[in-house]
Amino acid sequence: MASLNIQNVRKSFGDSVALADVSLSIKSGEFICLLGESGCGKTTLLRQIAGLDMPDSGAITLDDKDLMSVPCHDRNIGMVFQSLALFPHLSVIDNVAYALDIRGVDKPTRQAEATKLLDMVGLSDFGTRKISQLSGGQKQRVAIARALATKPALFLMDEPFSALDAGLREHLQIEIRKLQQSLGITTIFVTHDQREAMAVADRIVVLNNGKIEQAGTPTQIYAEPQSEFVANFIGDNNLLDVTCTDGILYFKDVALGAYTLPDGNYKIAIRPEHLQLHPSDSQQDGILAKVTLVRSLGAMLETELQADNKTFVQTSLTHTDIKIAAVGDTLKIGFDMTKIWVIPS
Ligand code: ATP
Repeated sequence: MASLNIQNVRKSFGDSVALADVSLSIKSGEFICLLGESGCGKTTLLRQIAGLDMPDSGAITLDDKDLMSVPCHDRNIGMVFQSLALFPHLSVIDNVAYALDIRGVDKPTRQAEATKLLDMVGLSDFGTRKISQLSGGQKQRVAIARALATKPALFLMDEPFSALDAGLREHLQIEIRKLQQSLGITTIFVTHDQREAMAVADRIVVLNNGKIEQAGTPTQIYAEPQSEFVANFIGDNNLLDVTCTDGILYFKDVALGAYTLPDGNYKIAIRPEHLQLHPSDSQQDGILAKVTLVRSLGAMLETELQADNKTFVQTSLTHTDIKIAAVGDTLKIGFDMTKIWVIPS
């Protein structure tokens, strides 16, 4: 277990800034997900930590030890990348034991260690197989076991499950989380999939254009986005420019309800599940809007509406006694004022 401290790390490739100024402290035993769109700098940050690349400036310390002068192979970091780079000519057990072999660990010890790790990742019966005789998910497990063989202080994974189908992915997410918790190993996991990040992370770090937009628990990131980018990026959200006057929120002169804020202009976010749909002649506050799409999401029914060139998305639990709207209906969108989130400016 180890804590990692990243301070003011910058990295450019020619004119392109991959990491603008990244600072992040990771506690010992934490499971961190780096989350962001393609090209936001996730892999670049992982590569600086691993020592596969050197930052232009900034510092990275592992348990207060400066990593900048430590070569990649001496950083005591285990890595699993998307291209697993397993050795096809070696058996499963020899793949796992490989790093111990090159460290000069004797054969009985390394075989015993590798057997223990294969057991941990649920592959105890596969030790003698060749890599080509494994499924995609089994190869992922071998890569994970191999990365953990040297008992690294830090475990880095770059989109390890992205090539797998949804079911297997979900299964491995649960397994990797359990394994990480049982070992207590400090872990950084890169993904562009917010559901995956939500499912596994203690803390999600949202990157955008080489900068950290927000770092927080999955609940904080979902419920209290600190920027418009995060509010848009994590889950579905309705974002509105509103005005507060005398304790009432207005969207383009339409009252949404009472809200305690100083008079002024604000950007608010409200989740689809916190919008309500009323008949158009309802006396409730709200925005008159036209239904443009109704679709079933299984447990939820999603209704899309348009008002003033703005699209709103509303969801209801399918099993509740709701009247299903039809495309073209005019309804009034009501706001659960207790669920409004004002995005910090
Ligand atoms: P993805 O999810 O697509 O893997 P990412 O968030 O991991 O994306 P990075 O690979 O870190 O993104 O890339 C960040 C930016 O740096 C991108 O604009 C990319 O084109 C650029 N970049 C990364 N590596 C190099 C390189 N070796 N040379 C030039 N530009 C690079």
